[in-house]
Amino acid sequence: MDIVLKIADYYFFTPYVYPATWSEEEIVRQTLTLLIVTNLGALLLYLFFGTLNYYFVFDHSLKKHPQFLENQVQREIKYSIQALPWISIPTVALFLAEVRGYSKLYDNIEDSSYGWFGVIISMLSFLFFTDMLIYWIHRFLHHKLLYKRLHKPHHLWKITTPFASHAFHPVDGFLQSLPYHIYPFCFPLHKVVYLGLYICVNVWTISIHDGDFRVPKFLQPIINGSAHHTDHHLYFDYNFGQYFTLWDRIGGSFRSPSGFEGKGPLDYVRKMTEEKMSEHAGNGCKREQVVNGESLKDK
Ligand SMILES: [Zn+2]
Ligand SMILES: [Zn+2]
Repeated sequence: MDIVLKIADYYFFTPYVYPATWSEEEIVRQTLTLLIVTNLGALLLYLFFGTLNYYFVFDHSLKKHPQFLENQVQREIKYSIQALPWISIPTVALFLAEVRGYSKLYDNIEDSSYGWFGVIISMLSFLFFTDMLIYWIHRFLHHKLLYKRLHKPHHLWKITTPFASHAFHPVDGFLQSLPYHIYPFCFPLHKVVYLGLYICVNVWTISIHDGDFRVPKFLQPIINGSAHHTDHHLYFDYNFGQYFTLWDRIGGSFRSPSGFEGKGPLDYVRKMTEEKMSEHAGNGCKREQVVNGESLKDK
C-alpha cells in the first residue's frame, strides 16, 4: 500500500491538500490518506469491474429467473456501497501497519532469497493460503450462531449478479478479506505483486458472481468458478471455496455444479422461455383457428 500512498502524496495530497509543514511520514496524515485512498480504490474497483462484467459477461436473461428479486441490481449496489466504508476502517489499520514497516513486503526482486522463482512461489502460496483461510472463515460464518447476524445478507441474492460480489455485512466482508491482509505479515511478498494480486482477487470475487460458467473442461474439477459459487448461493451448504475446489473436497462440502449438468439457473430460464414460447405458439394457432372459423362462418 505504500506505493499507492507515495503516488497519492506526490501527485495530489502534498501539492494540493495538506499544509507543507505536515510530514508525509506522520501517522495521522497517513491514516487519513489511507482512508480516502482505500475507500476510493475499493469503490472504483467494484464499480468499474462490476459494470464491465455486468454489461459484457453477465447473461441478462438470468433476471427472468423467479428467484431474482425486484430491483435486485440497485439493492446489491446500494448494500455494497454502504458496507465498503465500514470495511475500510479495520482494513486501513492493517494497511497502516504495513506502510509503517511491520509486514514482510519487499521492494526489489533482489530482496527475495530465490529471485523470480521466489516471486512465482509467493504468488502460488498467496492463492493457496488465502483460499484455505477463506474456506474456513466462510464455513464458520455459516454456523447457526453467526449466520443470521453476519452472513445472511450476502445470501439474500439467490441468483447473483456481479454487483452481489461485495454486498456483505461489513464484519462478514472484512473477515473474508482478512486472509489477504494476513499473508504479507507472515510471508515475504513483492510489493507490486501484492498490489496486482489484490486487484486480481477482487476481480475474481466479481467473476464468481456473474453466472458465467465458461471454464476450460480440464480445469472444471479444480477451479471453484461461478458455477460452483452459484450453487453455493442456491443450495447453501456446498462450495464454500474461493478459487479452488480443494478445501471443499477435503471438508466434504463439494458439490458438482448444477450448471455443468444442464440444471443450472440459466437452463431453467431457457426452458421456461421455451415453454412460454410454445404455449404462445399454441395459443396463436388456436386463435387463428377461431378467427378462421369465424371468418368461415361469416362467409
Ligand atoms: Zn455463504
Ligand atoms: Zn457470494
